[in-house]
Amino acid sequence: MERIVIVGASLAGLNAAETLRAEGFDGDIEIIGDEPNLPYDRPPLSKQLLTGEWDLERLPLRPDDELAALNLAFRTGTAAQALDLDAKLVRLDDGESTPFDGLIIATGARALSLPFGRDLEGVHTLRSISDAGRIRDDVARGGPLVVIGAGFIGAEVASSATARGLDVTMVEAQSGPMLGPLGSELSEWARGLHADAGVDMRFDTSVSALLGGTRVESVELSDGTRLAADSVVVGIGVRPNVEWLADSGLTIGDGVICDQYCRAAPGVFAAGDVARWPNGLFGPFAYADPQRTMRIEHWTNAVEQGMAAARNLLLESRGQPLEPFSPVPYFWSDQHGLSIMASGLTSPRDQYQLVHGSLKDNRFTALYGLRGYLTGVVSVSWPRMLRRYQSMIRDRTTWTEALETAREIES
Ligand SMILES: Cc1cc2nc3c(=O)[nH]c(=O)nc-3n(C[C@H](O)[C@H](O)[C@H](O)COP(=O)(O)OP(=O)(O)OC[C@H]3O[C@@H](n4cnc5c(N)ncnc54)[C@H](O)[C@@H]3O)c2cc1C
Repeated sequence: MERIVIVGASLAGLNAAETLRAEGFDGDIEIIGDEPNLPYDRPPLSKQLLTGEWDLERLPLRPDDELAALNLAFRTGTAAQALDLDAKLVRLDDGESTPFDGLIIATGARALSLPFGRDLEGVHTLRSISDAGRIRDDVARGGPLVVIGAGFIGAEVASSATARGLDVTMVEAQSGPMLGPLGSELSEWARGLHADAGVDMRFDTSVSALLGGTRVESVELSDGTRLAADSVVVGIGVRPNVEWLADSGLTIGDGVICDQYCRAAPGVFAAGDVARWPNGLFGPFAYADPQRTMRIEHWTNAVEQGMAAARNLLLESRGQPLEPFSPVPYFWSDQHGLSIMASGLTSPRDQYQLVHGSLKDNRFTALYGLRGYLTGVVSVSWPRMLRRYQSMIRDRTTWTEALETAREIES
């Protein structure tokens, strides 16, 4: 294998490239990215960048000299348009094609927008550095800001804009913030957190129109209420960037469908927000259907899966056995000065129990169980506890054993 192409010049792609070099691959590595930038970090876009603590210069994932030392050929501002597996070519939107012996797909996901109001000034989604720059400029206008969607991105934007002194209203179709990933008990806690910080919240409510002339002026809700808005951030989820692979012959569903080694086809691996794979750690005991796959939209997974995909590509090329990718997923979200950390699967769940601390003190650890096993943990302001239960999830601890451990810690 002499030449590896990575499509997607961001977190998963960069970590894959670094791993290829660290594991001794000294052939050509080309990284194709449709954004004009070299790899940068997305989590600060909804946090430090919006609060004004950081400026754009702090976002690159690696300093220039570190990137240069990796000897990578970046082709930025260029989108992959198609994959020809037989010819081993990626076709690009500048009319050129680039050949590969090995391919890593790391095209991530993009933010969904509403089917209306997209052309109004002041209406945003948040995925890229340019989105964040526009939102930051609009936040500086002073508001009011309406955030549509109370998932992690929406809740973080609401938190950051409130910290800047804006009047913020968060609108959500479900009955609470982050209800899917946290469950009803911690969603209720998060609702209190946002209320205490002064965020106005409308739940069980959808948006029927965004109104204005050239710039958005108000948001019309399904109950007929109109909320005044100088700007709007839509945070209603993401979709994996797979369209360019439509005719490739790869299996595409909600993401690039891979096997347990992150392999989509011989010589072709996928990683990060775009990859869907069966995580063997959860399959055998947590799901009725052992083939059930997961696609994770979080930072740590993009790092770890980028590394795993690169390693397995090299192992395959050397005819060695591949290593299953079976992590305990982890993410964090910063809101109103608190760090919400979660690991494993918190949904679906059969059991939920708060085991340490208290919701009212904003310092606690809660466990989630499925089919008799500990499968997830959420911890606020208590990283040590998170790590402890994370390793118990990795060890396939039963729900009963996990509760016993919690009791021992408390006694
Ligand atoms: C505002 C924000 C805040 C976040 N905060 C957190 C957080 O607090 N904690 C956490 O765990 N996670 C967080 N995340 C999620 C985390 O940033 C992502 O999981 C991570 O960026 C995924 O990395 P990736 O490389 O798989 O995909 P991406 O970072 O999406 O990168 C994919 C790249 O591929 C490019 N691309 C797409 N299609 C093509 C194509 N056809 N040709 C060429 N290039 C293409 C994209 O433009 C992009 O540059 C946040 C994300 C956002 C947007």
